[in-house]
Amino acid sequence: MISSVRRLLAVTVAGAVLVPAFIAGGAGTAVGKASAGPKLFDLDKAPKPNVTGKEIINGLEEYVDKFPMRHNGLPNNVAAAEFLAKEAKGYGFKTTIRKFEVGTPSRTVRVVESVKRGTKKPNEWIAFISHYDVVAGGGFTVQGAYDDGSGTNMMRYFGKAFSKVKTNRSIALLWFDAEENGLLASQAYADYLEKKGQKIHAGLGFDMVGIGYPARYCICIYHGPMPEDAALAVPIIKHVNFDYLKFPEGDGGRAATQKWPLGTDGHICSCGPNIRNSDESNFAEKGWFTMRWTGMRTAFDYPGYHQPWDTVPFMEAVAGGRENLEQGTENTFKSAWYTTFVLDNL
Ligand SMILES: [Zn+2]
Repeated sequence: MISSVRRLLAVTVAGAVLVPAFIAGGAGTAVGKASAGPKLFDLDKAPKPNVTGKEIINGLEEYVDKFPMRHNGLPNNVAAAEFLAKEAKGYGFKTTIRKFEVGTPSRTVRVVESVKRGTKKPNEWIAFISHYDVVAGGGFTVQGAYDDGSGTNMMRYFGKAFSKVKTNRSIALLWFDAEENGLLASQAYADYLEKKGQKIHAGLGFDMVGIGYPARYCICIYHGPMPEDAALAVPIIKHVNFDYLKFPEGDGGRAATQKWPLGTDGHICSCGPNIRNSDESNFAEKGWFTMRWTGMRTAFDYPGYHQPWDTVPFMEAVAGGRENLEQGTENTFKSAWYTTFVLDNL
């Protein structure tokens, strides 16, 4: 439960500030210790994910080739949901496709919910979030490889990797429909979770991921809007990405300068409160802790955004080659993988 994590963190931070000041009496020492922040999990003890970017991008090709035109209301929308559900079930996740009637005019939306029970705190979820539909307006998008084939498909590999390891909390893979119709499924689903009293330790969002370091753009990591979100997320982002994975740090670049083909440097950005609007925002609105990964700072930095040419070959072109796309995808995967173990051990 995130509220207990926040309380724990508040106590730890307060202790870090007070104790050195009391012992040393020197402002310099106190500041130095305080900035060390809460004690975070030693990642040398975390299992390695054993999934490669090459494998994930091969999976992406498979997914968008099999299921183009995943617009809510079209047959492949349902077929994609059933495919994801079946695969997750095969990895040992307890899987249900939940249906909701929402929107005006009313429509059926589906949420693929796949849960692998935690060993110590099974009632608390670390939720992975993406949307399997493609944009409906005008029917322009065909494959939607980056938006959001990339996030949807990456979660297939979280399913594979988490199937082989134990976690304290439950891992919930949540694939949403109708994100492109106004986050409809995730809104209904977040209401449903709240009503049944589901504890959400964290919600991690993946929408448009993979075109970033070593490609000449950021792997941007955002967190929820509240000060408590920043207090928890910022030290974790640093611990995982810069201290442990040794990724290069940057500021995300201003959109105008980082727009393809003008990216200048591949890096990871601890990018502050989430400026991207996707399903995880419905979790943030419930007061649950959220983080979000993206490759490139804004959706419009990607020149295939909501276009018929949003395909894997086009993603490769934007990333500067297949290898860059595979490695950027693997880096994003690792960043979120290790973040999960830090959160799970708080
Ligand atoms: Zn999207």
